[in-house]
Amino acid sequence: MISRNQQLFERAQKHIPGGVNSPVRAFRSVGGTPRFFVAGSGAHVTDADGRRYVDYVGSWGPLILGHAHPAVIAAVQEATLKGLSFGAPTESEVDMADLLCELLPSLEMVRLVSSGTEATMSAIRLARGYTGRDLLIKFEGCYHGHSDSLLVKAGSGLLTLGNPSSAGVPADLAQHTMVLDYNDSAGLAAAFAEHAAQIAAVIVEPVAGNMNLVTPRLQFLQALRELCTRHGAVLIFDEVMTGFRVGPRGAQGLYGITPDLTTLGKVIGGGMPVGAFGGRAEIMGKIAPLGPVYQAGTLSGNPVAVAAGLATLRQLRAAGFYEELAQRTRQLTDGLQAAAHRNGVPFSAQAVGGMFGLYFRSECPQSYAEVMSCDLQAFNRFFHGMLDAGHYFAPAAFEAGFVSAAHAEADIAATVAAAEAVFKAW
Ligand SMILES: *Cc1c(COP(=O)(O)O)cnc(C)c1O
Repeated sequence: MISRNQQLFERAQKHIPGGVNSPVRAFRSVGGTPRFFVAGSGAHVTDADGRRYVDYVGSWGPLILGHAHPAVIAAVQEATLKGLSFGAPTESEVDMADLLCELLPSLEMVRLVSSGTEATMSAIRLARGYTGRDLLIKFEGCYHGHSDSLLVKAGSGLLTLGNPSSAGVPADLAQHTMVLDYNDSAGLAAAFAEHAAQIAAVIVEPVAGNMNLVTPRLQFLQALRELCTRHGAVLIFDEVMTGFRVGPRGAQGLYGITPDLTTLGKVIGGGMPVGAFGGRAEIMGKIAPLGPVYQAGTLSGNPVAVAAGLATLRQLRAAGFYEELAQRTRQLTDGLQAAAHRNGVPFSAQAVGGMFGLYFRSECPQSYAEVMSCDLQAFNRFFHGMLDAGHYFAPAAFEAGFVSAAHAEADIAATVAAAEAVFKAW
């Protein structure tokens, strides 16, 4: 009998390009049929065939409390009864701004938007408007949403300007973005030596989570801060993934580096569409209506979305929240690594707070090139073995994974036991 997932996927492809509303969901890199989910509760999701999985995707990061957390659902229900949207200020937006600025000391002012893409796109426009410069520096393997300036790959040769990485991005526009190697302080210094007067901003994932997981060298983050300060460029930490995920003050708190602007998303919406960008008041003061940089949104600060975000952020303040989350995540990465090694499978894994990376290579990668050397076929085998056993990992090798506060020790132990069986049959 054909599965319900298969039936839905076939139907979906008729009117939705590729059958999905975001490409990685299509299982193109791992092969097979995407699971259509019908419900989630805590650490688990249930698909259209009624199969239950331990979920390590968590909607790609937002669900730090797990699925359908009672406090979040209650906050959303309460908010919906009062109306879905006003297009006028509401008190919950002020509460959200106050809370974000309290939790992240580098934020003096913050503006809410509806996605991470909007947050990064707006922060870059703001940095350009504030500095009066056009050149943007990003790092290969970092993802900052899908706006034109960011869908750019390195040109050939060192220090050349970027080329579009997507059809539809004008080459003229890509020329304003330079793509450098992550964790390469010397490359960064060279770019500043040559182009300092044109550099408006450097945008970075302070822990890279969109090329699998790559941790920053502290010296790299320090070089970013020093060079931007010295040359008047705006340092943007894209914490859409890491914000409130790797620790209570994001990656900036973890590594002790203060960016000029920070972009947020994912966790701050708790599963609803909320993004934000904020930072130094001097820079934020250039945004309309205070200043000349235009930015707006019909549904920005939407009261239902903000209610979910606020309810989520408030739960994170519980004593020991991050210690426990980090410990659970390490239980997973240590367990998987031990299981792989017992069975002679080249594998490594690491965690930062509630996010993790799994690598089919013997050591954790420190650069994009090292990430690219991971064994893709091995990952796909692992992915499908785990999926069949009821453990849902990201359906692509180059993604970070997520553990939530709802993952119990027993959930993780079950996942490690399933992995042991997969590795044994390797
Ligand atoms: C997910 C992500 C984005 C984009 O956020 P969307 O809400 O998907 O637009 C931007 N930056 C980083 C670091 C992300 O992980």
